[in-house]
Amino acid sequence: MDSSNSWLLSRVGARLLTASAGGLAGWWVGSQIGYPVTLCMGAATSAVLILSVMDTLKGHRLLDWLRTPEAAPPDLPGLWGEVAHRVQRVIHVKDEQIAQEQARLQEFLSAIEASPNGVLLLDAREHITWISAAAADHFGLSRQRDLQQRVTNLVRQPTFVQYLAAGDYRDAVKCQMSHGTQMVLQIQVRVYGEGLKLVLSQDITERERADTMRRDFVANVSHEIRTPLTVLNGFIETLGALPLTEVERKRVITLMTQQAERMQSLVSDLLTLAQIEGSPRPASDRWIKVDGLMQRIESDGRALSRERHPMSFVLECDGKLCEIAGIESEWLSAMGNLVSNAVRYTPEGKAIEVRWARLPNGGAEFSVKDGGIGIAPEHIPRLTERFYRVDGSRSRETGGTGLGLSIVKHVVQRHGGELRISSEPGKGSTFTLTVPASRVRQV
Ligand code: ADP
Repeated sequence: MDSSNSWLLSRVGARLLTASAGGLAGWWVGSQIGYPVTLCMGAATSAVLILSVMDTLKGHRLLDWLRTPEAAPPDLPGLWGEVAHRVQRVIHVKDEQIAQEQARLQEFLSAIEASPNGVLLLDAREHITWISAAAADHFGLSRQRDLQQRVTNLVRQPTFVQYLAAGDYRDAVKCQMSHGTQMVLQIQVRVYGEGLKLVLSQDITERERADTMRRDFVANVSHEIRTPLTVLNGFIETLGALPLTEVERKRVITLMTQQAERMQSLVSDLLTLAQIEGSPRPASDRWIKVDGLMQRIESDGRALSRERHPMSFVLECDGKLCEIAGIESEWLSAMGNLVSNAVRYTPEGKAIEVRWARLPNGGAEFSVKDGGIGIAPEHIPRLTERFYRVDGSRSRETGGTGLGLSIVKHVVQRHGGELRISSEPGKGSTFTLTVPASRVRQV
C-alpha cells in the first residue's frame, strides 16, 4: 500500500471515528430525551459522515494532481473545482514566465556562441560553470564532461596558470596552446559578482603568423641588402685609399657592378612581389599570344645560357594559335623565372627542355625540365617561401634573390593555376605551371 492510499485511509478512518463518536453521543442524548430525536441525530450524523468522506476524496484527487501538475486537472465540482482551476492558472502563468526567461537566456547564449571568441565562466573556486563552443575548441575542453572541474586542472598551459593565479587581469596574456592543433590565444580575465570570473579567449594564430612573417621578411630584406652594401663600401674605401693599377681598378669596378646589380635584382623582385600582391585578380578576357611569350622566353633563356646548354623550346598547339588570358608581364615573369632557374642550376652540357602543351581537360601546361643538380625531397615544399634557398651561395653567385619561385607561385595562383615541382637530386628537376581551361583558347 502506497503512502497516499494509507494517508487517505487514515483520513477516512478519522472521519468514521468522529462520526461514530457523534452517533454514540446522539444515541446517549436520544436515550435521555426519547426515540424520535435519536433517529434525527443518527440521520444527520450519517449525512455528515458521507459528505465528509466525499470531501476528503475530492481533496485527495486535487492533491494527487498537484503532485504531477503537468497532467490535466481533475474535474471536480464546487469549491474543489474552483481551487483546481485557479491553481492551474497560476501554474500556467508561471510556466509562461519561465519559458520566456529561458528563451531570453537561450538567445543570449546563442549570441555569445556566435562570436568567434571563447567564453569560460568560473565560480569563486575557479571551477568551470559554463563553456562556449569556441572556448571548448580554444582550450581543448569538453562542454559537458569538464563542467565543475577546476580550470587549472584541465588547462595547464603555464602562462595561463600563472596569469590566473597572479590576479592582475588589467592586460591580456598571449598563450601558445599545445592541445590538438598549435594555436596562439590571447586570453583576458574579468572578475564580476562575488569573485566569479569571465575568461575571454581569442584565436590570434593567423595574426601572430603574419607578424612573424613580416618580421622575418624585413630581416631577410635587410640582410640581403646589407651584404652587397658592405662589399660596395669596402670597394669604395679601397678605391679612395689605395693607388690601384688600371687592371686592379677594372677588376674592382666589375665586382662593384656585380654587387649593384644584385641589389637591383632584389629591389626589382621585391617590387614585382609587392605589385602582384596588391593588384586585383587578373582579368580573364585579356588574351596574350603564347607563341609571342615563348619567343621572348627563348631569347632570354638562350642569352642567359650563352650556349652552355642544349635547349629545346616546344609549342604544341595543334597547328593553331594558342592564347592565354591574364597579365602578360606576370606570365613572362613566372615562365622566365623557371627558365632562368633551369639555366642557373644546370651544369654546362646538360639539356633543358621548355614545353607548352594543351591538356585533355582544355587547360594547358608550361613545363621546364632540366638535367641539373636536382633538389632533395625535404626542400621541395619550402621552395616557394620567400628567400628560401637550398644552397644560398650558389643562388647568390648566379644572381638569385631567393624570391623567384614565390613570384612564380603567386602569379600562377592568381591566374587560377598551380605550380608542381618534381625533382631528384643529381638527376634534374621539372617545374610545371598548369593553366585552367577558362584561361586558355586556340584560335
Ligand atoms: P633563387 O633566386 O635563389 O634561385 P628561387 O625562389 O627561384 O630563388 O628558388 C629557390 C631555390 O630553389 C633556389 O635557391 C634553389 O636552391 C632551388 N631551385 C630552384 N630552381 C631549381 C632548379 N631548376 N634546380 C635545382 N634547384 C632549384
